[in-house]
Amino acid sequence: MKCSNCGANLKVDDSRMLKYCPYCGQEVEMEEHALDTMTGIIGTFGKSLLSQRAEQKRYEREHAHEIAQEKRKTALAEKKSMMKMLFCMMGAMMGLALIMMFVTRLFPGVS
Ligand SMILES: [Zn+2]
Repeated sequence: MKCSNCGANLKVDDSRMLKYCPYCGQEVEMEEHALDTMTGIIGTFGKSLLSQRAEQKRYEREHAHEIAQEKRKTALAEKKSMMKMLFCMMGAMMGLALIMMFVTRLFPGVS
């Protein structure tokens, strides 16, 4: 950060929470500086986000066909994994039911 008065680099005075210019004595409160940094960060972040989105849009336009294919593939894979999960759950439930049957048969008093 530069001095608004003479353009020299400001020095940080931690004890007083401010920045000061060693040449002309100009003082700048840290909070102001922090706010500047914050808006700067948010600004850069927003800009990079925007450019990222634009880049993605461009990419999607250029590779629409491949993306559609990829989406179809992932949808299929998801369906398959869902089926697998369902089968697993059914298997587990059947196993549980079998165990319960055994338990109730072995220990008639439990149920
Ligand atoms: Zn100055």
